[in-house]
Amino acid sequence: IDKIKRKIENKETWFSLEFFPPKTVNGASNLISKLEFLGSGRPLFCDITWHPAGDPSSDKPTSSMKIANVMLNYCQLETMLHITCYGQTKESMKQYLDKAKSIGIRNLLALRGDPAVGSEWKVQENGFNYATDLVKFTKENYGDYFVICVAGYPHGHPDSPNYEQDLIHLKEKVDAGADFIITQLFFKPEKFLTYVEDCRRIGINCPIIPGILPIQSYDSLRHICKLSKLEVPENIVNALEKIKDNDEAIRIYGIETAVQLCKDLMNAGVLGLHFYTLNREVAVTEILRRLDLWNSETPPRDLPWKSNQLCSYP
Ligand code: FAD
Repeated sequence: IDKIKRKIENKETWFSLEFFPPKTVNGASNLISKLEFLGSGRPLFCDITWHPAGDPSSDKPTSSMKIANVMLNYCQLETMLHITCYGQTKESMKQYLDKAKSIGIRNLLALRGDPAVGSEWKVQENGFNYATDLVKFTKENYGDYFVICVAGYPHGHPDSPNYEQDLIHLKEKVDAGADFIITQLFFKPEKFLTYVEDCRRIGINCPIIPGILPIQSYDSLRHICKLSKLEVPENIVNALEKIKDNDEAIRIYGIETAVQLCKDLMNAGVLGLHFYTLNREVAVTEILRRLDLWNSETPPRDLPWKSNQLCSYP
């Protein structure tokens, strides 16, 4: 049942891959073929994000619930469904979780989510204010049926008055029943390692998995950092400024910096790595190959900008 939990505790190296729901039906079939290919590299699990504004539990081919269903039941991948609770009623949340259960989902990433763009967070009477409320609700209604993951922020969550307060609230999520933590992206290995130490210091003892964002373009990096209210370190800004008009050079830089970050983490004893794929497979398979984590007979996709032999791979 809790394959993810057991593997994480097993002391072997592993990786997992995050995707977001596509916008179009064409995008959905494209994503499914990527999932089939990436699945051959044997990720421990794949996960799909949840966007409350986008009808995430509908039967549309582009909904998070539908993609989770395909990921699990068609691609046969261990699947984790993200789910946000802010602004939901207990009834709607119960419907989402029942639906997830009915399609066979056993793993959830329980999140608060954010208010719609332009509106402020405010207390929801009888509703869900924090991810902890969703963790408690899930435990109360489904016992140990779901393995529950929660989000952690090595830089502190932007709404939090300070880093220490945020850690205390993370501990509340874990005490409410979360099984493991995946972090927000970060750039320096020390940031993650210090975060883990700080978590351990206050009694957070569950596995903490680093979230790795391979840089794939200057614009997407800036966009993601803006959304996450993170600053890109000066050395990365400087390096990217020099090559900003050369997409190929940026992608190679992205692969090299991600490989180095992962190696530093693994040398420090980290066993599991979670990749934000941005629904692209080339960079992540190359990173996995260089880290010796691509567990497949199928070769990783070659870098199209370095080779013209793409057709020899499925
Ligand atoms: P929480 O853990 O509830 O924390 C939010 C803030 O409230 C923090 O500042 C925390 O310190 C504070 N807080 C918590 N409890 C209390 C309390 N009792 N009293 C006072 N303050 C408290 N968003 C999506 O919309 N869809 C996704 O699929 C998605 N996936 C994500 C995956 C990962 C790995 C990460 C790191 C983030 C993801 N997000 C996603 C973004 C996330 O929804 C936002 O970062 C959101 O602002 C916080 O969600 P949370 O679950 O971390 O919130």
